Amino acid sequence: MPTSYQIGLTGKIIAPDLYIAVALSGSSQHMTGCSGAKNIVAINKDPEANIFREARFGVVGDWKAVLPAFTDKVKALLAE
Ligand SMILES: Cc1cc2nc3c(=O)[nH]c(=O)nc-3n(C[C@H](O)[C@H](O)[C@H](O)COP(=O)(O)OP(=O)(O)OC[C@H]3O[C@@H](n4cnc5c(N)ncnc54)[C@H](O)[C@@H]3O)c2cc1C
Repeated sequence: MPTSYQIGLTGKIIAPDLYIAVALSGSSQHMTGCSGAKNIVAINKDPEANIFREARFGVVGDWKAVLPAFTDKVKALLAE
């Protein structure tokens, strides 16, 4: 991917209210760009991944299973 898509040391520095980190290890170069986020939600299959040290909420699992369940729940809440 071009650096314009990258978050981090060589990419953009962002500070959103919510940052959903899907299958990101949480490298220091990446976290430089997003550690200002108010809430980091991490999905990673490796319970030892560094991203869980930075995240407010985390799910240990395969994103292919977790992400559809998450979006289904959000859609259901929005429909209420
Ligand atoms: C000078 C320099 C500058 C850099 N600048 C940047 C930068 O600006 N931004 C940046 O991002 N990186 C930068 N990097 C690269 C950085 O060091 C890391 O290599 C990179 O951030 C790792 O990206 P990643 O987390 O996507 O991949 P990986 O470190 O490979 O991590 C992948 C993660 O995904 C998890 N995973 C894999 N499959 C699944 C699955 N199916 N479900 C759930 N989890 C899964 C794994 O457990 C793993 O933790 C830079 C490096 C250098 C040397």
